[in-house]
Amino acid sequence: MAADEAGAAPSAQSVLSSVFGFDSFRGRQRDIVDCVVQGGDALVLMPTGGGKSICYQLPALLRPGLAIVVSPLIALMDDQVASLRQLGVRAAVLNSSLTPQAQRDIETRARQGELDLLYMAPERLLQDRTLAWLADYSLALIAIDEAHCVSQWGHDFRPEYMQLARLPGLFEQVPRIALTATADLPTREEIADRLQLRQAQWFVHSFDRPNICYRVAEQGAAKPQLLALIEREHAGQSGIVYCLSRKKTEAIAAWLADSGHQALAYHAGLSHDERQANQTRFLREEGVIMVATVAFGMGIDKPDVRFVAHLDIPGTLEGYYQETGRAGRDGEPATAWMHYGLGDVVQRRRMIDDGQAPDARKRIERRKLDAMLAYCELASCRRQTLLEYFGETLPEPCGNCDVCLDPPETWDATRATQMALSAVYRTGQRFGSQYLVQHLTGSETERAVQWGHDRLSTYGVGESIDAKTWRSVLRQLTALGYLEADSEGYGGLRLGPRAREVLKDGQGVQLRKDRRSQARKRSGSSAGPAFAGADEALWNRLKTLRTTLAGEQNVPPYVVFSDKTLSELVNEQPRTDEAFLAIHGVGRKKLEAYGEQFLAVIRAHMQGDDA
Ligand code: ADP
Ligand code: ZN
Repeated sequence: MAADEAGAAPSAQSVLSSVFGFDSFRGRQRDIVDCVVQGGDALVLMPTGGGKSICYQLPALLRPGLAIVVSPLIALMDDQVASLRQLGVRAAVLNSSLTPQAQRDIETRARQGELDLLYMAPERLLQDRTLAWLADYSLALIAIDEAHCVSQWGHDFRPEYMQLARLPGLFEQVPRIALTATADLPTREEIADRLQLRQAQWFVHSFDRPNICYRVAEQGAAKPQLLALIEREHAGQSGIVYCLSRKKTEAIAAWLADSGHQALAYHAGLSHDERQANQTRFLREEGVIMVATVAFGMGIDKPDVRFVAHLDIPGTLEGYYQETGRAGRDGEPATAWMHYGLGDVVQRRRMIDDGQAPDARKRIERRKLDAMLAYCELASCRRQTLLEYFGETLPEPCGNCDVCLDPPETWDATRATQMALSAVYRTGQRFGSQYLVQHLTGSETERAVQWGHDRLSTYGVGESIDAKTWRSVLRQLTALGYLEADSEGYGGLRLGPRAREVLKDGQGVQLRKDRRSQARKRSGSSAGPAFAGADEALWNRLKTLRTTLAGEQNVPPYVVFSDKTLSELVNEQPRTDEAFLAIHGVGRKKLEAYGEQFLAVIRAHMQGDDA
C-alpha cells in the first residue's frame, strides 16, 4: 500500500484509524513505527498484550515493498494473517503445509506487488530457494517476532533462530525489528547480540500488566479453591490451568469436565491432531478451559483469556510472568491465581538436579526457583516484587494483588524458627517437612524410637503449635532461605544460607499468618463486561451475530470483533456508519463487511423487539 487516491503517502495516524480502527497510538508505538518507517532497526520489549503487532504491521503498510515477518509457530501466523485479512490487509503465510502450487502462487503474488506482509518460519526464510527469489526486489522490512526464541537460556529456544544472524549480511538495506515479551535483562542482551541488533534503537515498555490481579494460595486443597475461582468469579469464561505433568493435566481436565465445565487437556504427549483440535476449540468457542503443561501457550493470541491458574509452582518468575501474561491481553480485568505446596518445590528441585544441564546452568535454575518461591511467600505487594525482578520500580503498592487487597498478618516466629532449624539440624538434615512436623509436635513415635529421635531435645518441643502452622513455618523458612530443599535422597530439608542469622547471630524472624480462606468475596463477576437488563440482551445478540459470522469464515470470534468492540457497541449504540466507524477496532474494511448487520441488530434492539 504505497499511496492513497490523491497520490500522497498516507500518514501513520490515518492508517492506524482507517485500517485498524484505533484512535491513537499506545505507549511508544508511534516512536517505533517512525523508527522503522525511516529505515532504522528496532528492538521492542513490550509485555504480552502491549500492542507489538502494530509496530511492524503499520510500517509494512507505509513502506514500499514486501514485509517479511518471521515467527516460530504456524498457529500464530495463521491467526495473525486471518486478523489482517479481516482488516483488508494483503497478508499471507508461507509454510510447508501448503501445496507446491499454493506456494508458487504466493511467490507470484509477492512478485507482482500484491502482498504487503508475508509470514514464515526462520528456516523457510533462510532456505536458498526463498533467499533467491527474495533477492530480486526490495523488502519493506523484516520483523522477527518472539525474538527471545534466539536465547539459549530461555525456555523457548529454537536453534533455527540463530541463523537469523545472517540477515544483515543478506539484506543490507532492509530495516529489522525484533519483538519480544521476555522481560529479563540477560535475555535482552542476548537477543541484541545474536540478532546483530547492537546498533538498533531499543524500545523498552513497562512490563506492568495492571489489569491482572495476582493471587497465590499456599494452603488448603487446591481443587475446591480452583472450582470456587472458576464458578464464583469466571463462570462461562475462557481460562488456562497450568499443571506440571501430563498425567495431571488429563486428570484435572476430566475432573473439571465432570464438574460441568468445558475443559480440555493439552500436552506434548497428545497426538498432533488432538492438540490441534483442542487448541482450535479453545480459540473458536467461548468459555473453554484449557488444562495444559507449559507446552501450551506460546503464540496463543487469544485476547479474552480471563484467568490463568497454576496448580504447581512454575520453575522461574520469567516463566510465571509469561504464562500469567496470557490472561487479559485485551486489557480487561483478569486473574492470575496459583496454588502451591512445598512438595512442588522439592519436585522442581529434583527435576533440576536430575536434568542433563551443565552445573553452571543448574545453579542458575536453582536461584530462579528460589526467587519464585520467595515471591509465593511474600508479605508485601506482589506486583512490586515482580516488576522489581524485571528491573522496574513501582513506587506504590499496586492495590490489585492479594497482598494489597487482603494484607496478611505477621507474627514473631523467632522462637519457632529456632526450634525448626534445630530440629532439622539434629535429625541430620535429611527429612522432609512431614516428618519434621511430626518430630516437632512429638506425634511420630515409631520411627522416632527406631532412629533414637525421641531422645533429642527437639522432639515434641513445638507441641504448642499446631501441625498446619508448622507446615506454613517450614514453607516460609524455605522461601526466605533459612532452610533449603535438598533434592537428593528423599527430598529433605537442610539448613539454608540464612540459618546462621538466627542460630548464631540471634536475629528475629517475622512470618505471615496463613489466611483463613483464600476465596475472594467479590461483588459480581470480576472480569469481562457485565451488562444487565436490556443491555445484556443486546450484548448477547451481538455475541451471537459475532459467533455466526466467525463460524461462516472459520475464524475465531475475536477476529471478527473483540469483546471491547462489542461492549463499546452496547454502550454507544451507534446508528450511522460514521458512528460505527468511531468504535474501537472498526476500520473501513470491517465497516464494509459487518456494519450493516451489526447496525441492524442495534436498530432492532432500540425499537424494542428483543423478545
Ligand atoms: P502483543 O502482540 O504485544 O501481545 P497485540 O499486538 O496482539 O499485542 O495487541 C494486543 C491488543 O491490543 C490487541 O487486541 C490489539 O488490537 C490492541 N491494540 C494494539 N494497539 C492498540 C492501540 N494503539 N489502540 C487500541 N488498541 C490497540
Ligand atoms: Zn499489590
